[in-house]
Amino acid sequence: MIVKELMSTVITLLPPTANLSDVLAQMQAQGTSCVLITENSVVLGIITERDLLRVFSDQISAPNAEAGLLSVQALMTAEPISVLENTPLLDALVLSRSRKLRHLPVINGDGKLVGLVTHTNMADAYVKLLDRQGELESANEQLQALSLEDSVLHIGNRRALDMELALLDAQSRRSYQPFALVMLDVDNFKLYNDHYGHPMGDKALKCVVAAIKTSMRSTDRLYRYGGEEFLLLTPSAVDKAALAVANRARQAVVDMALSHVKSPQQILTLSAGVAWGRGINCASLIEAADKALYQAKNSGRNKVCMAD
Ligand code: GH3
Ligand code: MG
Ligand code: MG
Repeated sequence: MIVKELMSTVITLLPPTANLSDVLAQMQAQGTSCVLITENSVVLGIITERDLLRVFSDQISAPNAEAGLLSVQALMTAEPISVLENTPLLDALVLSRSRKLRHLPVINGDGKLVGLVTHTNMADAYVKLLDRQGELESANEQLQALSLEDSVLHIGNRRALDMELALLDAQSRRSYQPFALVMLDVDNFKLYNDHYGHPMGDKALKCVVAAIKTSMRSTDRLYRYGGEEFLLLTPSAVDKAALAVANRARQAVVDMALSHVKSPQQILTLSAGVAWGRGINCASLIEAADKALYQAKNSGRNKVCMAD
């Protein structure tokens, strides 16, 4: 079952010029628990009951007669996490559980809004599905197995990355916004494992992830691409800015100064390949970043290279 089959197409929409009074009026009239702020069928933001609760509590502590005029742009969560209409139910459900999102806008391959799914919609559909299969008792186990998080490093796993890349592809087709990605690979990691043992290798990977995280901005997103390779998505940082993000990550690992006696540098390091573009699909960008990474390795490791 895919998201399109269970999404609701009755959605409360408002333009970015609307205000809080409009939001309340629309939600009451339509009995919905959220409003999407859209322009030309593109989702700019979302306002849920949670956001209204915040306004309500502000009003109690500091009443303001003008509150109804508050712009939706000040209230909304901008660029909310969305799902593609052909996303399997389970993937969307796991996403909404792991990110604690009760509402997910649904977009088509052109990045246009086509519907909305709620956590409740999905949980109900999932339970019905399992009920039919007579497998209710294993529902929770299955959901755990379908996690979007790497169980060792606690960052997004390959499955989560693939979902995000599909979304990026759809969004870049619609908006022609440039975006960048950084492929990171730990240097001489096989030698590290051979010398210190696999359990120490696992610990080192955790330290590497912690170091990379300290170098990231809040909008950057880190995924485990596989083994000792990571992919960093840097929305809004392209070209030299993306190169700087990659260099900060590389430097953060150097600064950790984790001993690696079998490496020429004597400490654990990583190399990175950066690629950016607009109107280009993620698969081509990954290929370009991978080539740049190969260059970084060939020019001595502990380096960052930009794709041509
Ligand atoms: P390069 O600098 O060219 O990247 O060399 P490398 O040794 O890092 O690359 P190679 O691909 O030869 O080896 C990667 C090693 O990473 C081999 C694999 O056992 C190890 N590795 C991958 N995932 C894990 C993991 O989760 N834990 C541990 N301990 N090791 C891992
Ligand atoms: Mg590798
Ligand atoms: Mg490596």
